[in-house]
Amino acid sequence: MTIIVQKFGGTSVATPERIRHVAEHALITQAKGHQVVIVTSAMSGETDRLLGLAHAVAKDPTTRETDVVVSTGEQVSVGLIAAAIHDMGGKAISLLGFQIPILTDGVFMKSRMTAVSTDAITAALNKGNIVVLPGFQGITPQGEITTLGRGGSDTSAVAIAAALKADCEIYTDVDGVYSADPRMVPNAQKIHRISYEELMEMASAGAKVMQMRSVELAAKYNVPLHIRSSFHNVEGTWVTDETPEMESVMVSSITSTMHESRIAVRDIPDRCGLVAQLFEPMANSNINVDMIVQTVNTEGLSSVAFTVGKEDLKKAMQLTENGAKEIGAGRVEVAGDVSKVSAVGLGMRSHAGVAVRMFKTLAALNINIQSITTSEIKISVIIEMARAAEAVKALHTAFGLDKPQT
Ligand code: ASP
Ligand code: MG
Repeated sequence: MTIIVQKFGGTSVATPERIRHVAEHALITQAKGHQVVIVTSAMSGETDRLLGLAHAVAKDPTTRETDVVVSTGEQVSVGLIAAAIHDMGGKAISLLGFQIPILTDGVFMKSRMTAVSTDAITAALNKGNIVVLPGFQGITPQGEITTLGRGGSDTSAVAIAAALKADCEIYTDVDGVYSADPRMVPNAQKIHRISYEELMEMASAGAKVMQMRSVELAAKYNVPLHIRSSFHNVEGTWVTDETPEMESVMVSSITSTMHESRIAVRDIPDRCGLVAQLFEPMANSNINVDMIVQTVNTEGLSSVAFTVGKEDLKKAMQLTENGAKEIGAGRVEVAGDVSKVSAVGLGMRSHAGVAVRMFKTLAALNINIQSITTSEIKISVIIEMARAAEAVKALHTAFGLDKPQT
């Protein structure tokens, strides 16, 4: 008998009706002869509500107590799903993070799992139960309740599937992974099969499909993922190891991020270690710096430009201005509201000309490129945010993605 892990996101368990739907779906899967493990998120909006409560009673709640509060969202979901299955005449049992147990390191609010036990789960499955487990929750060896960071249920589901050597279905409110955000590109097409690596690059390039760490984990343990809708019963997107056909597609998706800011430091003297000195304070403040580009002018002075999320702009500017003074650099310039537009595809490894086609497409629209970075399977450019939607649409067409995939 195969074990199937079915992970449901917040919108899939948002209401009593949706929860009954989940229960029914799991029962149908079980009736087909599978053992079923459900991993669920909190009801949609619930984690935010709980965080809001913590901040309503305390200016700066400790991370330990915050985890005690926010971990309850998933506790509600598992109890409700199991109760709904019972109501339909099925057998089910919920187990909380500490009952499984899912062991984590001791970092509150962004724990990493260190071990997932399967004994309790397997015992419950072998008694004919659908086993309903919370995403997001864990416990330290000392018995402290921890959570895995926002969006962590995906990572829980993949870890549990890996431990059980099970298939993993990720149920969400979209039909799968698309060649671009369908709200931005009406012609965006569902991708039938994509590699872990491409999905990771897409996630880092702004596509909000799954928590990045969950995809990393799936790749590491080779857990095939099927990302699909809990609202429509249609085949979604399979995420697997690379296959030879995948490389025949030059670009598989166009993604974009919004509201990034670009900071540039001019006239940095040509001495070893200055750039490190510039970036160290930001690393220490946990500011995520992206798209770093250095250029050197004829006098041997260099400029460094990089992007940060808008939420980090103020702090990043402050640190950069101080840093620039310290290292004897020139002025610091900022461009708010830029967008990172990326083309991702395994085929880039073996096809030439992707970058040129991208640059020509943007040039034809008179869109100015402020920075460029590349990885083996991704090209990203920074452009003015106001033109991002237009750029994404044009690139989607230019790379032949408007037609349904075969
Ligand atoms: N409930 C948690 C959150 O909203 C975990 C998850 O849904 O993945 O971030
Ligand atoms: Mg989620």
